[in-house]
Amino acid sequence: MDALDELAQSLLIKTEPLSLAYWRPQPAERQDAFLGSQIEAERPICPEHKGSLHLKLQLVGQTLPEPWQERFYDKLIQLWLCPEPDCPEYLADSCLLTSQSEHLLRLADKGLQSVDWQLAGTDTPMPEACRQLCQEQEIWLTEAESALVDQMVGAESGDKLGGWPDAEHMLEAGCLSCGQAMQLLVQLAQTGYLCYCPHHRENLILIKR
Ligand SMILES: [Zn+2]
Ligand SMILES: [Zn+2]
Repeated sequence: MDALDELAQSLLIKTEPLSLAYWRPQPAERQDAFLGSQIEAERPICPEHKGSLHLKLQLVGQTLPEPWQERFYDKLIQLWLCPEPDCPEYLADSCLLTSQSEHLLRLADKGLQSVDWQLAGTDTPMPEACRQLCQEQEIWLTEAESALVDQMVGAESGDKLGGWPDAEHMLEAGCLSCGQAMQLLVQLAQTGYLCYCPHHRENLILIKR
């Protein structure tokens, strides 16, 4: 092993506690599709443009992979967006599945793409976020390791569930209730980052690209 390999190896070991698993959506053969994740449809009205908001995402907590299933077992999560460019309107909502099952949208009626989530690997934070988190968690990097972070570390882009966001600015978002850093629930390549607070699951926010 040469010096660079050794350095990369020690950096990997040190940043290992920061790595998170993530899942990719796979088209699913589900006919009823009441249960399971779905992407894309139309419904509520944008207060600004009076047009339909589009349903970008629907997650049924009890069908998600662990640990998401445990966290959101009784939840239905929907993300609605206004299709007008630059419109700030969106609605990220989670509700109790048992009491509000009428909110569930059906694949056949709404033209949703039904998906399953497939474990794809683990993610590490983007370089700035990684350095910041290392400091917060008292993971001490040498100067050489810190310099190597730029080449070694980074979150996967594209649609995914969990993992780290592929943007640096995410760490600045805080929960409205407790101020703690929001964590990534779903990253949508075209839209942005749907984040949640581990202590307040109802506080979902979308950070647009
Ligand atoms: Zn709008
Ligand atoms: Zn909170």
